[in-house]
Amino acid sequence: MPIINKILVIGAGIAGPAVCYWLRRFGFSPILVERCANLRKGGHAVDIRGVAIDLAKSMGIYKKICNMRTQVELGRYVDAEGNILHEEKGERFGFREGDDIEILRGDLVQILIDAMGDVPCHFNQWVESIKQRDNDVEVQFKDGRTELYDLVIGADGLHSTTRRMVFDKDEYKLTNLGAYFSAFSIPNYLNLNHTDVQFEANQKLISMASDKNPKIAITGFCFRAQNVLNNLRDENEQRRFLRDTFQDFGWETSKILELMSDSNDFYFDSFTQVKMKSWTKGRVALVGDAGYCASPFPGQGSNQALVGAYIFAGELKQAEGNYHRAFNRYNELLQPFVEANQKFGVLVNESFLVRDEVSKEVAEERSNKIMQEIKIVSNMISLPNYE
Ligand SMILES: Cc1cc2nc3c(=O)[nH]c(=O)nc-3n(C[C@H](O)[C@H](O)[C@H](O)COP(=O)(O)OP(=O)(O)OC[C@H]3O[C@@H](n4cnc5c(N)ncnc54)[C@H](O)[C@@H]3O)c2cc1C
Repeated sequence: MPIINKILVIGAGIAGPAVCYWLRRFGFSPILVERCANLRKGGHAVDIRGVAIDLAKSMGIYKKICNMRTQVELGRYVDAEGNILHEEKGERFGFREGDDIEILRGDLVQILIDAMGDVPCHFNQWVESIKQRDNDVEVQFKDGRTELYDLVIGADGLHSTTRRMVFDKDEYKLTNLGAYFSAFSIPNYLNLNHTDVQFEANQKLISMASDKNPKIAITGFCFRAQNVLNNLRDENEQRRFLRDTFQDFGWETSKILELMSDSNDFYFDSFTQVKMKSWTKGRVALVGDAGYCASPFPGQGSNQALVGAYIFAGELKQAEGNYHRAFNRYNELLQPFVEANQKFGVLVNESFLVRDEVSKEVAEERSNKIMQEIKIVSNMISLPNYE
């Protein structure tokens, strides 16, 4: 039976630190590398719900998440002039109920990094090449160093380099859902108090929320667009694209776009789903968005990453290091959960960014449907007990 111990994990987002936590707990020796010089803490809030709550509890981080949770008490829908159309309680506005909890993505990343304890994490580091051999994987890093690992895990997000390096083009499909998402923080110049304000019209949505830190507001932009950027990864183009798309949109948009110039946590991406029949190849596996991104809109990315990380590490423990068996089980167990969440991603994508103005009735009907579905998909898997 192959002995597995030294495991390289690429990407310190949600999936990377989570898989390191479980691997370490189950007796393996993971090493984490992150391309950026620091943790990438940008982004909007993400939700922990369904079986991911059980995982957070079992990791001992649920209380911490509760302590750092967002505290949006009110969701407000406005029109182009800022008139209030209707309001909802914060939890319902975010499709949460019961133990479901919302936290800023950056806070969750920090909690996960803290939870993984003494797992080494090397910043400003990335992989130049991955060569699979019979008994190990030879990895060359950007500084020219070469290391051997028993396994390599790509947890490097939607635009995963690991996926590109290891899998053939016909082994994954990227499905662009025809929409984009952006988030960044600005000063809370509207003095929002635990409130999230949202304006949606003509297939565009802009939101601004402030809760725990009264000085800061986090903005969110979602929109459908046909004109694809020349280079989706170029931040200057992304900012220009956002400005062009939202100019004259109404409400506070002009002021928010003006303040965007000073934001240092700008995040922008397309609504893209990653579809793969298998997330493993040889001694390499993908965890999180790299293998099964469902797109940001349903807010299920962090849950999928947490669940995927647990199952991956747990199956490796269960198989006593027989990675062939563990990889097969990982693919098999996770596939229905991922399929349900991606289907849900399409439903949410179709429900928002509509052409017509969103009346109170339409918004309520939409919330009811999404709340019903999200509860089902976030519980769509029974977690094995690996302890
Ligand atoms: C800055 C940022 C902001 C986000 N904001 C939101 C949001 O507001 N709402 C939402 O729903 N989702 C957001 N997401 C996506 C969300 O985090 C994921 O959908 C989900 O949590 C799954 O996490 P992940 O760990 O698989 O991927 P990610 O969270 O994307 O993490 C991937 C990590 O890998 C690193 N990385 C990438 N390439 C390499 C490489 N070659 N070598 C080493 N490291 C690499 C990245 O820097 C990043 O830290 C954001 C992601 C990022 C990176």
